[in-house]
Amino acid sequence: MAPSVRSPAVRMLYTLSSALKTTSSPLLTGQRRTFSAGNPARVEATWWKESMERLRNIGISAHIDSGKTTLTERILYYTGRIHEIHEVRGRDGVGAKMDSMDLEREKGITIQSAATYCTWKDYQVNIIDTPGHVDFTIEVERALRVLDGAILVLCSVGGVQSQSITVDRQMRRYDVPRVAFINKLDRMGADPWKVLSQARSKLRHHSAAVQVPIGLEDDFQGLVDLVRLKAYYFHGSNGEKVVAEEIPANMEALVAEKRRELIEMVSEVDDKLAEAFLNDEPISSASLEEAIRRATVAQKFIPVFMGSAFKNKGVQPLLDGVLSYLPCPTEVSNYALDQNKNEEKVTLSGTPVGPLVALAFKLEEGRFGQLTYLRIYEGVIRKGDFIINVNTGKKIKVPRLVRMHSNEMEDIQEAHAGQIVAVFGVDCASGDTFTDGSVRYTMTSMNVPEPVMSLAISPVSKDSGGQFSKALNRFQREDPTFRVGLDAESGQTIISGMGELHLDIYVERIRREYKVDATVGRPRVNFRETVTKRAEFDYLHKKQTGGQGQYGRVCGYVEPLPEGSTTKFEFENMIVGQAVPSNFIPAIEKGFKEAANSGSLIGHPVENIRIVLTDGAAHAVDSSELAFKLAAIYAFRQCYTAAKPVILEPVMLVELKAPTEFQGTVTGDINKRKGVIVGNDQDGDDSVITAHVPLNNMFGYSTSLRSMTQGKGEFTMEYKEHSPVSQDVQLQLVNTYKANKAAENS
Ligand code: GDP
Repeated sequence: MAPSVRSPAVRMLYTLSSALKTTSSPLLTGQRRTFSAGNPARVEATWWKESMERLRNIGISAHIDSGKTTLTERILYYTGRIHEIHEVRGRDGVGAKMDSMDLEREKGITIQSAATYCTWKDYQVNIIDTPGHVDFTIEVERALRVLDGAILVLCSVGGVQSQSITVDRQMRRYDVPRVAFINKLDRMGADPWKVLSQARSKLRHHSAAVQVPIGLEDDFQGLVDLVRLKAYYFHGSNGEKVVAEEIPANMEALVAEKRRELIEMVSEVDDKLAEAFLNDEPISSASLEEAIRRATVAQKFIPVFMGSAFKNKGVQPLLDGVLSYLPCPTEVSNYALDQNKNEEKVTLSGTPVGPLVALAFKLEEGRFGQLTYLRIYEGVIRKGDFIINVNTGKKIKVPRLVRMHSNEMEDIQEAHAGQIVAVFGVDCASGDTFTDGSVRYTMTSMNVPEPVMSLAISPVSKDSGGQFSKALNRFQREDPTFRVGLDAESGQTIISGMGELHLDIYVERIRREYKVDATVGRPRVNFRETVTKRAEFDYLHKKQTGGQGQYGRVCGYVEPLPEGSTTKFEFENMIVGQAVPSNFIPAIEKGFKEAANSGSLIGHPVENIRIVLTDGAAHAVDSSELAFKLAAIYAFRQCYTAAKPVILEPVMLVELKAPTEFQGTVTGDINKRKGVIVGNDQDGDDSVITAHVPLNNMFGYSTSLRSMTQGKGEFTMEYKEHSPVSQDVQLQLVNTYKANKAAENS
């Protein structure tokens, strides 16, 4: 089994698919994992070994409406976590249990992830409810980071849809082994074999069915298990009684054919099974099951299950499949970043032995205060323990440890590596890492990407100011790519994020969850300004009005920081002697910083700049901190033009795929958007085009791609870098800025 290793990276990923309205999503990738059969942790049999082998952390991902919520509900029912079934958007008005937010109830989709715990056949299964909506991939991404395996739900009528492609791509990116579940076999037009072949062609799955349905549509009765060679039927009012019978005689030929196909597909990626297969040896259920497990854990194969969640058929065998084929935490190795060693990678043992390392992957504002979900990667956490938040350096005591089931909880005393728990009353942000203090590891990079888009927002009614700030505070803690700031000139609140839709969703959540209607401005791309040349300044700020005057002189220069600098703003005082008393220096630095907040080209922050103070002058009576601060601000403005400033814009890496017949139109359009095409590959009948395109030219792209390709094209985009705009664009931006300012002042 070749372990797959992926390096850690911080990247933002927008996943936009032309079949949906638009979908954009920021991503901070988490730690990648390696899978190894020979994990040293498995060598010694210790107290935790069995407990960890009987643990599964899984996610369920799907295209909207393929039945994820229904399936989750059934899983909770069969595992005894709930005692009744409520249909999604049910007429009983209760709604499925996993949909805990109002917004989700209303839309019938799941936006926020929650972790729920259940047991199946003496195995602990944590279901991390990965968001169904691709807009929210920061949530998807966090969920993917903490899970060890996943179920990809596909609809037997709709087949592989745009969003299935997106979520599948995300799972592949995070090395998540998966099983597929083709749902809705009871529906008219259900064709699981067509969906299986689509999964092979569109998702490039190396997969095969592990079951064959008995009847389809109205006549869908049960399933034949191709591994155990048994027919399963689901009796009882909720299908809770699984009855195993002999395979119906009229299905024997089909079963033999599909079993052979399964063995062939697995043999292609598993040497041990291949040997038996090529030697024509009989293949036992146990050896086939083991081979499927090896291949699935190694992500070389995807076993395909089938059923109808709604008609209560096929869910229990799928759960068996989760135990049989998806990895336990010790089969996945994770690594952390050592903050004492410049984020060097450290492979975690993944066992309860070793220092505690736990990731806060989700916060929830609940009835009992803030609830923080933790995935423990190493060590043990106990109620009453002192733990350290590595991101903030704060030490806290674990007041209460619980296992969550949607909105209900169960108190526990301790939890160990591999498990998912929730703690109360812990002040932290999503993505923070906790340790016992003996190491300074984080599970995600501390370097968070800068937001690329902003908009002004204010509550319609002044009375709702309190709720409004509460909402913004919470979202900032949950999502590091969502920022809140003030526009220095207009005094307006500005929210920033990774794309138009990212911001839209927050505006919507402010309205729904906090009942605050807000007025929003037009989304703007986050331009930046920088200087390209060294320029001198020498400014004397002098004012004499009645009483004490103002006096401060600063001399020095600004220059661009060398390429690759990690800081964005540097200030250095090189004054020799006491030309400026040292107590005024901080005020000067403050003045320059403030001035750099808003460059005079278009009022955007000036970055990658170094300011050096070489001389100055002070007055015994009239000099003050204020006078020096103002002198710095004016000095900055004085020399800015001479420093040849330029505007930088976010450039995105766009990957798009469309049938080759549309290639000419699509590339022509990218050129029109001032994109640079950097790759053009063929994938079957599709062209895959890679390009670097300014974000400012990508507004509305999803709609135009759809119309250019008759809905057949799709694309993803992620932030690449900020680069200088062309001269004509700079001129245009500067003129618009000036015109707006003039209009404001008139
Ligand atoms: P989600 O958006 O993926 O969470 O999908 P839901 O679970 O909300 O299901 C979407 C719709 O499909 C709902 O009306 C369900 O009742 C229905 N549905 C889910 N599973 C099945 C199934 O197996 N058969 C049929 N006929 N309908 C289903």
